[in-house]
Amino acid sequence: MSVKPRVLIVEDEEPLTLLLRYNLEAEGYAVDSAARGDDAEIMLREQVPDLVILDWMLPGLSGIELCRRLRLRPETQGLPVILLTARGEESERVRGLATGADDYVVKPFSVPELLARVRALLRRASPNRLATSLELGDLLLDRGSHRVRRGNRELHLGPTEFKLLEFLMERPGRVFTRGQLLDSVWGMDAEIDERTVDVHVGRLRKAVNKPRERDPIRTVRGAGYSFDENFSRRA
Ligand code: CA
Repeated sequence: MSVKPRVLIVEDEEPLTLLLRYNLEAEGYAVDSAARGDDAEIMLREQVPDLVILDWMLPGLSGIELCRRLRLRPETQGLPVILLTARGEESERVRGLATGADDYVVKPFSVPELLARVRALLRRASPNRLATSLELGDLLLDRGSHRVRRGNRELHLGPTEFKLLEFLMERPGRVFTRGQLLDSVWGMDAEIDERTVDVHVGRLRKAVNKPRERDPIRTVRGAGYSFDENFSRRA
């Protein structure tokens, strides 16, 4: 089972949020939503989704300003953003794109068209999702054969450790809380204690790292875990 891409909808028109949520979930995405720009900013500091659908006019903080702030943070610099707006003037369109949105949809729009753009952006933003193997530094994870190597050494991972490593390697640099990892790697229905995540990360590290080898898994205090984005550079 592959991991569901996570989409955040930031929109203050509740019926539109519901419509988008329904359609995105039907396509297999995990969906979060916020009705205010400032709330969304807080959510995005805690968790970086795979894509954001962002309304322009929002209470709290405008979509444009939120987008601008996202581009200033390294964690969200490359986060795909689709901007929604009721304004269709060409100058506004240019301004929206200049702020760093990846795509721009004018309301009212057709849901299938928006879904197509979501798919296209995700494909462009995460080629790792489609690759048959992931290679970062001296770590090579082969999805087809379910094998992992570090340098010349074959690693022996349990199925959960494999999925955990695959999930993190697909998104180097992104920090995930234990709850998010449980959702994404174990599945929504899993009723498992969050400490289980620590146990499996421990096992994963033991399998991946020999003494004095650089640890690709980063523990972020008070937050969770991530795959060290510098691992491939310094390894
Ligand atoms: Ca609005």
